[in-house]
Amino acid sequence: MTDEPRPQTPPPATTSVGELRRRVAAAFPALRSDLEALVRIPSVSNPAFDQAHLAASAAAVADLLRGVGMAQVQVLTATNPDGLVSRPAVVARRPAPAGAPTVLLYAHHDVQPPGAADAWQTDPYEPTERGGRLYGRGAADDKAGVIAHVGALRVLGDELGVGVTVFVEGEEEVGSPTFVAFLTEHRDLLAADVIVVADSANWKVGVPGLTTSLRGLVDCDVEVAVLEHAVHSGMFGGPILDAPTLLARLIATLHDDAGDVAVQGLVTAPEPTVDYDEADFRADAAVLPGVRLAGTGTLTGRLWTKPALSVIGFDATSVAHASNTIAPTATAKLSLRIPPGQDPDAAADALRTHLETHAPFGARVTVRDGDRGKAFQAPADSAAMRTARGAFADAWGTEPVDIGLGGSIPFIADLLDVFPDAAILVTGVEDPDSRAHSGNESVHLGELEKVVLAEVLLLSRLATS
Ligand SMILES: [Zn+2]
Repeated sequence: MTDEPRPQTPPPATTSVGELRRRVAAAFPALRSDLEALVRIPSVSNPAFDQAHLAASAAAVADLLRGVGMAQVQVLTATNPDGLVSRPAVVARRPAPAGAPTVLLYAHHDVQPPGAADAWQTDPYEPTERGGRLYGRGAADDKAGVIAHVGALRVLGDELGVGVTVFVEGEEEVGSPTFVAFLTEHRDLLAADVIVVADSANWKVGVPGLTTSLRGLVDCDVEVAVLEHAVHSGMFGGPILDAPTLLARLIATLHDDAGDVAVQGLVTAPEPTVDYDEADFRADAAVLPGVRLAGTGTLTGRLWTKPALSVIGFDATSVAHASNTIAPTATAKLSLRIPPGQDPDAAADALRTHLETHAPFGARVTVRDGDRGKAFQAPADSAAMRTARGAFADAWGTEPVDIGLGGSIPFIADLLDVFPDAAILVTGVEDPDSRAHSGNESVHLGELEKVVLAEVLLLSRLATS
């Protein structure tokens, strides 16, 4: 015996997986209606939309967290160095029993704009079930992440043996512009041993995944100019190519004939160990029949560990406003996804150099830098990752796979910068058919129930590990 005070940790969780599975199943109907209530709030963070809904969704999330016994629930903001005030975020805390770790549970309550109405089979803000999936904007990304946390805390109740801080951000879909300021200002509230980011995807329906790599993002605008002003295409057409044609020729140099990115100096990370079935990929992405896939190597490599370059915007005269003139300028917005190991600044420089040195017909090429976000590579292994893998395996009855994400979660790099000693677990509520950001976004309800169970198991085991 020693004189050391005994930790106030509750006794090791003895509740069986089967009992916890039954409890999650019993709690799930109420969790589903909580999710539906959140989806009905059009909390679009894009500044072109009414920002008042973000206050309403933050208040709704705060109420849910008060209802699961969080001792301290606050709606907070921070101000970044540019004077930008953050959209409302919810921070809820329940302190750790003595000697137990603290876990930060992250999700975001803001959503993408709904997009075109005809892209939806049903109203994006009226959650609707079809075929075991719940459709609605944010039903997956990331209001299901909020519900995963609320559900785990509700099911565990007073058996929770770890400290928990829930952090539900309100501006992830606009690139978390005040994230570092928020982390810094509220550092003492948010500090944790383990961080669970529930904003990614599982491998497929029935197979869980732990997201261990994320691509980063670099974007820029490129303008091609050929004339000081527009001229008549009959009088001058022939010796002068219009700016949209020249821009198209410049864009065409960005990929080789196989469809791999042709910009020199970009990094490719090692090939992943799992691959995506081509037929599944074509179905998930809705590729039209007869279209050949671009690039070489595994599909997962092309999606996670190689650069990918897309034209995401193109400014030229619209077809409706077309006249017989040679357009003097045209602009494209380019989006470059970068794999782990690629420095964003070096990637931006490589892209700029490529664009400037491939100016077709000596046209004037101007590159304007845009956003930059770092890629992420989890450590090969950690105690928290082992605990998470075990929790996933028990929740699904199938071993999880390590997956990458082609998309970016730039704030993960910010979390690592501010909390370098925390173990970060990137978990998911989506599956390949969730269509986050698109029309007919949905969450698979059976999978969401497993996500809740996995988080229950993870939190119980982190308390005793
Ligand atoms: Zn998200």
